[in-house]
Amino acid sequence: MKIGLEVHCQLLTKSKLFCGCPNITAKEPNSVVCDYCIGLPGTKPRINKKAVDFAIQAALVLNCKIAGETFFSRKSYFYPDMAKNFQISQFEIPLAKNGWLKTGKKKIRITRLHMEEDPARIVHVGSITEAKYVLVDYNRSGTPLCEIVTAPDFADPKEARQFLQELSSILEYLSIFDPNIEGSMRVDSNISLDKNDMKEAKGIRVEIKNITGFKDVELALNYEIIRQKNMLRTGKDIVRETRAWDAAAGVTRSLRVKEEEEDYGYIFEGDLPKLTISKEKITEIKKALPELASEKIKRYEKQFAVPYSLSVSITSEPDLADMFEHVIKEIDPMTAANFFAKELKKTLNFRNLRIKDIKLHPGHIIKLLKLVINNEITIKTAEFTLREMVLNPEDPEEMLKKKTMTMIVDEKTLDPIITKVISNNYRALVDYRTGKKEAFDFLVGQVMRETKGRGDPAVIRKLLAKRV
Ligand SMILES: [Zn+2]
Repeated sequence: MKIGLEVHCQLLTKSKLFCGCPNITAKEPNSVVCDYCIGLPGTKPRINKKAVDFAIQAALVLNCKIAGETFFSRKSYFYPDMAKNFQISQFEIPLAKNGWLKTGKKKIRITRLHMEEDPARIVHVGSITEAKYVLVDYNRSGTPLCEIVTAPDFADPKEARQFLQELSSILEYLSIFDPNIEGSMRVDSNISLDKNDMKEAKGIRVEIKNITGFKDVELALNYEIIRQKNMLRTGKDIVRETRAWDAAAGVTRSLRVKEEEEDYGYIFEGDLPKLTISKEKITEIKKALPELASEKIKRYEKQFAVPYSLSVSITSEPDLADMFEHVIKEIDPMTAANFFAKELKKTLNFRNLRIKDIKLHPGHIIKLLKLVINNEITIKTAEFTLREMVLNPEDPEEMLKKKTMTMIVDEKTLDPIITKVISNNYRALVDYRTGKKEAFDFLVGQVMRETKGRGDPAVIRKLLAKRV
């Protein structure tokens, strides 16, 4: 089979692509708009230089060849989300082309990378099938987009998902894109089955439009493979068409018979000047590119002997990698790497948090790890403390002091709790007595849970040892 992707990424500029409106997600519909982005006649676009710089950065990390001179074109587009009835995009000469991005061990070819304005957002009241009318929110209209088109190089839907994850990570590292903004990456995916998939297949290309989320891209493609195989199995022909992914129902639905690029009737956008990108400009942007996750992974291994699996975890967020690099100024890199990739990452995932959204200070992590290194607390206690630290960033020493004051050390209080835990976990007791030593830690954990983490582990262990 052949799978290709067209990825639309919103660029994190301060203002929109062709007007001065702020490029923000505003709650109140149609509140961040001007005469230009609602398409009033007579208004003219002005190019946002920063958006061009951002697109050049993306093109460089995707190993593309950048055009020395390019221009914008109008793409006929007669839908309510584009009030002026054309979208300013690039067609004849894209900003960049012929690049690649490594996904696993494979190089996925990038055919082209161009800039365009985002249409408005259409809101179906109720659901897409039941809505009697649509509402249009022009806040999104004019957001700078960078469209990245791949060659049909993916061998399966999973590979397409991996590519998108990798792409999202590198754009986030460049600080030109935020994967946490809803709909900041929207994907059109095309798929055609061939003789290798089923002997009846004729390589007809079907496009699935506007999928949000990596997982949904994989799901939509998997659904499409099954649908097309079922069609072929029952002797039906696959139609060349555009379909929509209905994430709630988990199916694709036919939208329209596929139009060709020529159907859009591109014409030159005379209101914008030609865009000249000098070699000096490219060199200047190249020099300022930050270190990407893949480069950090290699460096961590070479410089600190941190294994690949740990580095992948640490570099999954630019801010996490940044904090790691602060912490290893004072802490042994391997100790820190283990803590970041295991305890910290686990805690963040458990709470569904990202490091950039919390106020955790590298100094706090350094203090916490020093307590572990000096054997003042166990790694388990450090993890418990961390769980609170990510919610209320505080000095870990202060937190532990407060905790010690409320710690239950009294044997009379702990004894009945231990009795209860043993009677509720008889199986663990039998396991322990038949040689499974880890069952003891399980019981300690259960007592800790009953005391809401306030029981003194040393006293608990002592008391429990007498009882088992
Ligand atoms: Zn505007």
